[in-house]
Formats: sequence, structure tokens, C-alpha cells
Amino acid sequence: MSLAAGKEVLSHCNKCNLPLAHTIVVMKDHKTPDKVRCNTCKTTHVYKDPSIKTVAKRRMPKLGTPTHKTSKINLEDMWSQAMKTSAGQELTYSIQTKFNKGDVVNHPSFGVGIVEKTIDNDKIEILFRTSFKTLMHNRT
Ligand SMILES: [Zn+2]
Repeated sequence: MSLAAGKEVLSHCNKCNLPLAHTIVVMKDHKTPDKVRCNTCKTTHVYKDPSIKTVAKRRMPKLGTPTHKTSKINLEDMWSQAMKTSAGQELTYSIQTKFNKGDVVNHPSFGVGIVEKTIDNDKIEILFRTSFKTLMHNRT
């Protein structure tokens, strides 16, 4: 079967959203129609092979964008890992005590944590089981 302008061809119609009989308006090459007119809705559009199924692109679920919020599980993992590897001394938290990175701190309300870093001479960041806390220390 040879195709030519004026002949009918089955094309997918964007408007009707169905594979329908179309009249060829312009040929792209000797066997591919370029533009076709839908016999149903009379719309002229680019020929679309009805055998090629338009597969709706599956959108990848958005990966969690990194935020400052650390999930509880990760934090707990970090915490238990830090607890295991901590080589520092275990101290009861007090604002007057000077802590160093790696020290295990026992806080009356937050529980046991590890000094992650010293921010200032009088400020430390402690990783507790459920959250990071910046606490004062070394205050005399
Ligand atoms: Zn149509």
C-alpha cells in the first residue's frame, strides 16, 4: 500500500484521543505522512503512528531534598555510633564544666549525649539521642 496526499491513513488524533481515519495532507517521504486531517474532528495535525503507544512518563518520586532536619532514625544511628566509638570521658552536664569534643555528657533533661564540637569557648554542640543541642559550658 502506498501512501500519498489525499489518501486515508490511520493516525492517532490528539483531539479525539483515538486512533482514527485521517486524510493525508502532506507526505514526509514516500511512506510517512507528515500532516494529516482527522476525518472525525477535521483537525489537521502531525501524523502520529497509532501503533506507537504514548506511554505516560513515570515521574520519579521526588527524593527527599536534603534539609537541616535530620530524621530521628538517622540521628539515633549517629548517636549510637558515636556512643560506641566515643573515647572521651563521661561527665555529668554542668554549665561550669569544660567539655571537649568526644566527651560523653550526661544531661539531666536530655539524657546522654556526645560533644560533637566546641563552638566557642563557652558553647558546645551535643548530639543527644533525639536531637542536637547547643549548650553552654565552661562558665565560671
Ligand atoms: Zn480527531
